Amino acid sequence: MSDSFDVIVIGAGHAGCEAAYAAAQLGARVGLCTLSTETVAHMPCNPAIGGTAKGHLVREIDALGGLMGRAIDATGIQFKLLNRSRGPAVWSPRAQADKKIYGRFVKAALDALPNIEWLIGRAGRVLVEHNRIVGLAMEDGDTYRCRALVVTTGTFLNGLIHIGPEQHPAGLAGEPPSQALATSLKSFGFEWGRLKTGTPPRLDRDSIDFDRQVAEGRFTVERGDEPPVPFSFLSPPIERAQISCYLLHTNDRVRDLVRANIDRSPLFNGQIHGIGPRYCPSLEDKIVRFPDKERHQIFLEPEGLEAREIYVNGFSMSLPRDVQADLVHALPGLEEAVLLRPGYAVEYDFIQPTERRDMKRRLRRGSSPESMRLVSTEAAKSSSSGETKRTSAFSSTISSRKAVSSRTGCSRRVRSTACCSESTTPICA
Ligand SMILES: Cc1cc2nc3c(=O)[nH]c(=O)nc-3n(C[C@H](O)[C@H](O)[C@H](O)COP(=O)(O)OP(=O)(O)OC[C@H]3O[C@@H](n4cnc5c(N)ncnc54)[C@H](O)[C@@H]3O)c2cc1C
Repeated sequence: MSDSFDVIVIGAGHAGCEAAYAAAQLGARVGLCTLSTETVAHMPCNPAIGGTAKGHLVREIDALGGLMGRAIDATGIQFKLLNRSRGPAVWSPRAQADKKIYGRFVKAALDALPNIEWLIGRAGRVLVEHNRIVGLAMEDGDTYRCRALVVTTGTFLNGLIHIGPEQHPAGLAGEPPSQALATSLKSFGFEWGRLKTGTPPRLDRDSIDFDRQVAEGRFTVERGDEPPVPFSFLSPPIERAQISCYLLHTNDRVRDLVRANIDRSPLFNGQIHGIGPRYCPSLEDKIVRFPDKERHQIFLEPEGLEAREIYVNGFSMSLPRDVQADLVHALPGLEEAVLLRPGYAVEYDFIQPTERRDMKRRLRRGSSPESMRLVSTEAAKSSSSGETKRTSAFSSTISSRKAVSSRTGCSRRVRSTACCSESTTPICA
């Protein structure tokens, strides 16, 4: 195996998978760096693809030959074209996904391309020589050469999760944040910002009697479109059966609980500094910003055909665990619901998009001996293993080839399907 790639992509989330797929389709030799092959194209929040704005984006990616549209058409479990009451320019395709099967489909599509190689581990440092990016050093000391580096780390850079007063550094729930890589990127002097987003609590499907709540008028059944409209222009008609979701509404008790506990919300008590996306308001935001609105819509969405988790769409929050439980139980029909995990808010770093213009100057600064030393020291400090090897670039690859990823049990550098093989049969595809 070679240690040299045309393109290395950091992160195998949605953006990273598309970047790797596009580069490989163009004939480039691609190294796709991920913490685990189990989380390829994972949906960290809503188990859905598309919606307003994002649906258009997925279709544009599809028109360019991308993967997402075909992946969701092959694995989606409920399809809806939103905004049909308005003009066609704002019609937005959205599909509920089976999270696990969607990820497996995307991984299988990437595995099928012989010029993509998995680099399993945590990217730690961007390597620069003569004002050009020349490679990537992993946190464990492995180094790889590349001619281009694509960074798609999502919400991981210096990620900090908030659940009431609890705070822990993390990417998405359960995964570690990228601190060394953030330090490395910061050494180039880019202008940074801090964003935040949030996710709702997940409920145990078996603790909710959907039929009874529908019969007694607390939930309304939300069905998909018949026939479903595919995202991709390449997909055949979608003929599989679709699941139902359920609609309910917040009430006065929910509003009063949020108001009574607003000073315990990190979003409102000064604990969180990042700003959130405009179209993804938390429950606290909705209650505070729209005081006259008597109720808000909540959708109960299964995270997969067999999944136990129910995603409570519209109920994302950062309140403490006890308040989250009270809020869920205040919703009509969810008095007995069991919480599987709490919602949370996550703050993370991002580079201001306008900084692309100054890339060359930044690299010159980043390749100075002083800044490289700074990166090494900071990275070593933040390395959880405590034995980060910061040798000169490209010196330490061979010894670690046989290393085994603790999370996946597979060889750290993997080509195609030889390892981590899972069932790749998409549901009903
Ligand atoms: C709690 C939460 C709520 C969200 N809510 C919404 C929402 O409602 N709507 C919406 O559009 N988006 C939401 N998002 C954002 C969501 O992350 C994106 O929509 C989508 O996942 C972005 O895809 P991505 O590929 O950019 O990042 P991600 O899907 O996050 O992928 C990033 C990948 O990079 C990998 N990675 C990170 N650092 C390293 C490293 N150093 N080395 C190797 N691999 C690394 C990670 O393991 C991950 O696989 C939410 C995210 C979270 C966490």
